[in-house]
Amino acid sequence: MTAPNTLDAVLAHIDEGLPQALDRLLDLLRIPSISTDPAFRADCMRAAEWLVADLTDLGFDASLRPTPGHPMVVAHAGPDTKATGGRHLLFYGHYDVQPVDPLALWDRDPFDPEVQDTPKGRVIRARGAADDKGQLMTFLEACRAWRAVHGTLPCRLTIFFEGEEESGSPSLIPFLKDNADELHADLALICDTGMFGDTTPAIVTMLRGLLGEEITIEGPNKDLHSGMFGGLAINPIRVLSRILANMHDDQGRITIPHFHDGVHELPDAIRAQWQNLAFDHAAFLGDVGLSVPAGEADRTPLEMIWSRPTAEVNGIWGGYTGDGFKTVLPSKAHAKVSFRLVGDQDPDAIRSHFRAWVQAQLPADCTATFHGHGNGPASVMAIDDPAFEQARAALTEEWGVAAAYVGCGGSIPVAGYFKTCLGMDAMLVGFGRDDDQIHSPNEKYDVESFHKGIRSWARVLAKLA
Ligand SMILES: [Zn+2]
Repeated sequence: MTAPNTLDAVLAHIDEGLPQALDRLLDLLRIPSISTDPAFRADCMRAAEWLVADLTDLGFDASLRPTPGHPMVVAHAGPDTKATGGRHLLFYGHYDVQPVDPLALWDRDPFDPEVQDTPKGRVIRARGAADDKGQLMTFLEACRAWRAVHGTLPCRLTIFFEGEEESGSPSLIPFLKDNADELHADLALICDTGMFGDTTPAIVTMLRGLLGEEITIEGPNKDLHSGMFGGLAINPIRVLSRILANMHDDQGRITIPHFHDGVHELPDAIRAQWQNLAFDHAAFLGDVGLSVPAGEADRTPLEMIWSRPTAEVNGIWGGYTGDGFKTVLPSKAHAKVSFRLVGDQDPDAIRSHFRAWVQAQLPADCTATFHGHGNGPASVMAIDDPAFEQARAALTEEWGVAAAYVGCGGSIPVAGYFKTCLGMDAMLVGFGRDDDQIHSPNEKYDVESFHKGIRSWARVLAKLA
């Protein structure tokens, strides 16, 4: 724990150095490190080299680590925590970015970054401004200020940057396994998430998992004419539709037996935090032309998107779907179904429960075949680790609004990989905003997010050291 006056000096240094910090971020944003497109392979390398040079400048022992894809960046610095009993933290970010198409929808060159005045304040406009270069630089700038003021870092730090996050992270798991000893720390900090709304700092403590299934139901051994066979022959589309409709009861609850094994109720403390979050579900739904929450009748809208599992039909087809009309009675019907998973739900167990449940509903003469798509369990962070309450206090001090533990309906697989490959828990803190337009044209990062993000990390480091 660091005395407040030593932190104040760091915060003052951050405020004074903001213009230079912005310049450094703009430099990094000029490198078009699009990981999915081989045409930008050299640029990805250049971004990694830029970070190694900057980290070296910052006093880190930094290196570029080749992989079969784009290189990783790994760096170490700070006092040996084994001697001091302090924490060893790992910080993760990614230097690669999404492609920019459609280019015509950008107001300027996505790799010619600019700080712009907007009605909502100053923003940094460029591909990668928010996802994730602006965010990863918040941490480096906090380290830079700390070192400038105190000559050292507050604790042992390992920095780990990936260059394939936007293209499926093919090298990540092998790299984590091959370098587990070097990368293991007491806690991972992941900066690739956002605030809640524009003003509430947030720590993501639950990420939903995902399971995909493709199902084909076959009835007659060939397509039939509905005039000749209709009424006598079973129609697999009717069978499939009935089964899919049975996945939810009329209260919105998923009916597959054993599906809810491992689903936990929210801890009271988190339920109370969520009740205090100003979530305007009417506006959230209104943006997409909807008005009524369609999840479980006894759950709040935030629970529906953060802490409850889902079953969704993502595609359904069979028979004749072209122009005009054809009175076919099809042989086969197909659907793609996905499940968002929470808590300790076991994807493999749910896959077999789902298949057994489908099989049990098949009428005579129908068979079902299944094709499994990807799966990954949910991540639930260990918020009983005191680091979480310390970080929450630090964020609350910086933003003047009580920081919240929030959920995230999408997936950030690296958090799960840190757990499974390194046995290390992760804390997800980020300063993005809903209107950052990540992955879209005219991506931006608010200068306020960048500035207060740097200050936030300085405060978090002071508390966690
Ligand atoms: Zn990202």
